Amino acid sequence: MAFSFRGGIHPPYNKDRTFAKDIEKLPEPEEVVIPLQQHIGAPCTPVVSAGDKVDYGQKIGDCDLSSLSCPVHASVSGTVTAVEPRWHPNGTKVLSVIIKNDFEDRLSPECVPFEGNTEDLTPEEIIRIAREAGIVGMGGAAFPLYAKLKTAIEKKVDVLIINGCECEPFITCDHRAMIEYPRPIVNGIRLIMQCLGLKDAIIAIEDNKPDAVDAMTLTTENTGITVQALPTKYPQGGEKQLIKALTGREIPPGKLPMDMGCAVFNVDTCASLDRKLSRGLPLVRRVVTVSGEAVVNPKNVLVPIGTSYTDLFRFCDGFSTAPYKIINGGPMMGSAQHTLDAPVIKNTSALLAFSGEEESFAENPACIRCGRCVSACPMRLMPNYIYMYAQKGDFEQCMALNVQDCIECGCCSYSCPGRLYLVQAMRMAKSRIPR
Ligand code: SF4
Ligand code: SF4
Repeated sequence: MAFSFRGGIHPPYNKDRTFAKDIEKLPEPEEVVIPLQQHIGAPCTPVVSAGDKVDYGQKIGDCDLSSLSCPVHASVSGTVTAVEPRWHPNGTKVLSVIIKNDFEDRLSPECVPFEGNTEDLTPEEIIRIAREAGIVGMGGAAFPLYAKLKTAIEKKVDVLIINGCECEPFITCDHRAMIEYPRPIVNGIRLIMQCLGLKDAIIAIEDNKPDAVDAMTLTTENTGITVQALPTKYPQGGEKQLIKALTGREIPPGKLPMDMGCAVFNVDTCASLDRKLSRGLPLVRRVVTVSGEAVVNPKNVLVPIGTSYTDLFRFCDGFSTAPYKIINGGPMMGSAQHTLDAPVIKNTSALLAFSGEEESFAENPACIRCGRCVSACPMRLMPNYIYMYAQKGDFEQCMALNVQDCIECGCCSYSCPGRLYLVQAMRMAKSRIPR
């Protein structure tokens, strides 16, 4: 097997700024702003009010069992000063719980480690624990873990893939996690195997991280988990690309990986499940890579959820020059930010600050019909034609060309010598398609 997929690109990876840097712990912030929407699905309902004292790890937002949603928890102990809309990484204001830190670090009585034998846990109990811990996919999509486990059981998934590819340039948080805490990752994977009734799993890691391959190989001995190094190519970490590379299975247009028997989970998502069992902790902290030309001292930082971008950049000694663009996530799929007041949320893998020199624009973008976007597209779409129909407002034709399968990886835009805003056109066309 070639362990690869058709299309894709080889952008400059720029991971050398942080890949060898140990994860550092951010000093406790004075205030955290915790949005009640940090996941795919409905926002939570606040279960605290202004003036309430809260403990570290206490549930502050909950949801109906019947809806797709996910609880959120306090990432510091302190006093709730407000429950009000605040800036969110998605560019809108979202109802959030604001907590003034009392620096007492009081752990909530809700945070109790599991004392029994984890091998006795039933799938339903593991799903309930994942929900109570507020765990979501930490590699980007923020899909609630409990809901994904439930669907994987219903769909009788027979292939479990753990995604340690981290194919986006600049980002190194998963790389460091695999080197610095491989054991919790493996424990979490074993719980997911137990939940899905599977005897084996594959951890996929790009071959530009040989130290992570070694660390995970050593830790997975005699567990039924194998480690597979894959060629470094963007977007190797895309679910459909990963499945194709590892199993040869194609996901047809309109289908999801679980329809084809495959479930993919991020490495740190697995570690979060172990943290709930072994230490009683819900998802209240995560590792964020802070990098980009404009950052004085790029780092991998362990951050309480709800920490402001300002506090995080300050910990990295601020900016060497006024940043031209701030991105939440990677440069290929992340989203540009308009304020430093937004907080780190459960799926913030990176915060990047770029200077003006790293940006280039075309005055009059024009297609020269070279076909490079088509060759680069890992989903075998025709971005040039979809772009043309989107410009004309003909979204039916965009649909006929399967724009809904676009994973917004940006390979087409990256490859385009005409500098067309292809991925933006894909996003716009997708947003016009009736669901
Ligand atoms: S952004 Fe969409 S159309 Fe462009 S290369 Fe990626 S999947 Fe293909
Ligand atoms: S890569 Fe750009 S210029 Fe070439 S065909 Fe695609 S849209 Fe046109």
